[in-house]
Amino acid sequence: MLAGGEPMLRKDVIEAAGSIRNIIFPIFTNGTFFTEKCRAIFDKCRNLIPVLSIEGGQEATDTRRGKGMYGRLLQLMDDFAARGQIYGASVTVTRENYKEVTSDEFLETLAARGCKLVIYVEFVPMNENEEQLAPGTEERDFISARVNDVRSCRDDIILLCFPGDELELGGCMAGGREFFHINSHGGAEPCPFSPFSDINVRDTSLREALSSPLFRALRTEGLLEGEHEGGCVLYAKRHEVMALVNGNN
Ligand code: SF4
Repeated sequence: MLAGGEPMLRKDVIEAAGSIRNIIFPIFTNGTFFTEKCRAIFDKCRNLIPVLSIEGGQEATDTRRGKGMYGRLLQLMDDFAARGQIYGASVTVTRENYKEVTSDEFLETLAARGCKLVIYVEFVPMNENEEQLAPGTEERDFISARVNDVRSCRDDIILLCFPGDELELGGCMAGGREFFHINSHGGAEPCPFSPFSDINVRDTSLREALSSPLFRALRTEGLLEGEHEGGCVLYAKRHEVMALVNGNN
């Protein structure tokens, strides 16, 4: 995945991804920089899948992303559909919008426009002040039940929940267990939601990055295997992760 920031600002990176035809790259975008040049790259390289960031309906999307953004995203969706472009939507799920974004109405709006994939990214706080926005047990149970309902009755759209689906996938997948994250400066991090790094891929190979002291310690000390309640395991253990990075453990 190319997530961002805004990947459309790096057409060189997108072109490089497009040239690797045997790998599918979901590319997350807010839609503001999706220019004709981007369109041409996506038309040519169908292994690139645009994933549009949307917050729900017009009010929620325009409030968070700026006036007019909801309309802009719908235009892009219609344009993708007209071009036969497979595309998805990415939704940050909070305590405020979880009912709206899992509703039949919202999903039907997307599916009717040809959207084939919805990635629910549950809001993971970066500090204690943001915790009231993060879905708790009650909200996560609601989301999980709704998603399972939709999965059982619709085959025209795929729903993924992150980190919620990890509960049934064997727990936290970060730190090279299933994936890891490279930030915009090259720092290799366990996950975007655990933004700590002790190695940079500008200086090492990917293989070496996966064996960094932090990644090794995460695996050997069992931090990834702790009980998964549906929220972010490494957020709950952020102080331990920080201690590993700082060598204080
Ligand atoms: S760090 Fe959190 S969000 Fe990332 S893979 Fe682990 S549990 Fe999931």
